[in-house]
Amino acid sequence: MNKFEALGLNPSLVKAVAEMGFESPSEIQEKAIPVLLNEDTDMVALAQTGTGKTAAFGFPLIQKINAKSGHTQALILSPTRELCLQITNELKNYAKFEKGLNPVAVYGGASISGQAKEISRGAQIIVATPGRMQDMINRKMVDISKINYCVLDEADEMLNMGFYEDITNILSHTPKEKHTWLFSATMPKEVATIAKKFMARPIEITVGSKNQGATNVSHEYYMVNSRQRYDALKRLADANPDIFSVIFCRTKRDTQKVAEKLIEDGYSAAALHGDLSQNQRDLVMKSFRTKQIQMLVATDVAARGIDVDDITHVINYQLPDEIETYTHRSGRTGRAGKSGVSIVIVSKSELRKIKSIERIIQQKFEQKDIPDGMEICRVQLFHLANDIKETKINHEIDPYLPSINEVLEDFSREELIKKFFSVEFTRFFNYYKNSPDLSTGAPGDHGGDSTRFFINIGAKDGFDWMSLKDFLKATLNLGRDDVFKVDAKSTFSFFNTNASETDKVLETFKDFQYNGRHIDVEVTTDSGRGKRKGGKKGKKFPEGRKFSGGGKKEKSGNKKGGRGRNIESSLKRRRTKK
Ligand code: ADP
Ligand code: MG
Repeated sequence: MNKFEALGLNPSLVKAVAEMGFESPSEIQEKAIPVLLNEDTDMVALAQTGTGKTAAFGFPLIQKINAKSGHTQALILSPTRELCLQITNELKNYAKFEKGLNPVAVYGGASISGQAKEISRGAQIIVATPGRMQDMINRKMVDISKINYCVLDEADEMLNMGFYEDITNILSHTPKEKHTWLFSATMPKEVATIAKKFMARPIEITVGSKNQGATNVSHEYYMVNSRQRYDALKRLADANPDIFSVIFCRTKRDTQKVAEKLIEDGYSAAALHGDLSQNQRDLVMKSFRTKQIQMLVATDVAARGIDVDDITHVINYQLPDEIETYTHRSGRTGRAGKSGVSIVIVSKSELRKIKSIERIIQQKFEQKDIPDGMEICRVQLFHLANDIKETKINHEIDPYLPSINEVLEDFSREELIKKFFSVEFTRFFNYYKNSPDLSTGAPGDHGGDSTRFFINIGAKDGFDWMSLKDFLKATLNLGRDDVFKVDAKSTFSFFNTNASETDKVLETFKDFQYNGRHIDVEVTTDSGRGKRKGGKKGKKFPEGRKFSGGGKKEKSGNKKGGRGRNIESSLKRRRTKK
């Protein structure tokens, strides 16, 4: 027997489920569906985000509704417009073979009279946001006085968003005899209060431990200076070329700012927040769903309920004010049985919040270092190689091949590969060669207790920051993270070590020769950073041999980083053209 049939679902529902490609019920579905089908009861069901709660109440609801009658029999309240539409869509899919069943979505930002009209045509199930529902009740556009079922979906989030009063008021317009099903990812006090106040001896179902995050999500944090948040984000994106992620910021302003920067740097990103018009939000969501956008930068409220599978990374650009919100954020990934990563970018002062989150999700975080330039270059290189491997050959180029072959006839296969990769790769490589080391949160950096040094060698001597770092580590006999913030200029450079190493550094380089030149190392107060941004560097040191571009380095460097991305998308374009 089909596993859904075994739960007691009608053949028409089982057929719809099969068409949707669900093979077996999720745990919450397995537990909730038989109970809701067989018993007339109230229910409190707790399960993490992405565990299939919609179907857990949707299937029984559809089976219990009388599709032949047009009167409103069920009300589903959900926190946001996006979620409202998602639930309605899911219900329509489930009810594909139920003749006459008409779920209607009711939410703000769209014509209220249009929605009222749809309801008047007979809506057995109304899926509504509390605000708009309240509006419709006030205007007597709906009648919920005869409903049999009320579902409070994502109850915790509705309460978080301040809908307590609306919910209370809406429920007062419903009959006492109805049954209330409450679904939630977490069980804060407020939800317990609602359950107590509006439900009669509810059956409680819990999947996983309360408040637990999805278990196929791993949690990582990266420690950075607050000023380096954005650079860290960029590196994380570059180190994951196939990233498909939601990036959470605390405010609309930050959301907008981060998205704009990413776009400027050549990434496919967009912002999603409450200041956008509904139309804009729909467009953004559509592009995200179809993966035109790789990185969606969003506020918590706007991202609530985004039901997009395949999200590889959730990135907490800033931690939420309410620690509980972290569960919702990380629940955006690891959906539908896939695995995902939830990343937190933290500054040192926020570190204790990680511990609180660990307690809530009952999972440990792994501390990781922001990947360095070399690591990213390697990842990008192999990504490019794989892209090439998978690229379908476009035979449009066939007619040109003889002449192309002529141009390249003197090169061996090895040389051609090297050259091809160099064309596409060098720009990316140069960007990271010139960018500073970000390993601020690395074990070697004990938070500001460091000394910054000036050294009179740099690019002219053939060093970039990575090779200089290696040179310093070897010469000073220091470990991997003991030399940091290495910044190679044209004729000189800067680097940091822990303050405790100051004497050792000065001692080592006292009378030190390099290529017959006297090496001069001094303690400096120059941060070596602030100046870079101004782009003055190029004017002062225009002739760095290995570093073309001089003054535009910072800016064009960013573009180059982005260019790596454009290369990928052009490869993708090539592929789809075929
Ligand atoms: P929740 O409300 O618990 O966050 P959803 O109901 O939005 O989760 O479901 C998450 C995703 O899993 C949706 O894309 C949904 O279509 C899918 N899904 C639900 N149940 C199953 C199932 N039994 N098998 C496969 N996919 C499922
Ligand atoms: Mg849900």
